[in-house]
Amino acid sequence: MPKVKHRHSKARGRKRRTHYKAVEPAMGVCPECNKPKMPHRICLYCGYYKAVKLRHFETIEERESKRGRKVQ
Ligand SMILES: [Zn+2]
Repeated sequence: MPKVKHRHSKARGRKRRTHYKAVEPAMGVCPECNKPKMPHRICLYCGYYKAVKLRHFETIEERESKRGRKVQ
């Protein structure tokens, strides 16, 4: 197994970590219900994708109402 020969400075580690950052997810707007949705994905609020309603898709509202919760 290789061994680490020397410790490196705090600055070196910090410089490396300057490249670690959270990426903001790309968001679009659903043309059916105008709620935010991710591009190339089904709308979670109305279950539409490219103007087609997916029959066996359970929307957030349907799922939450089953559990007795309400979506704002
Ligand atoms: Zn929608």
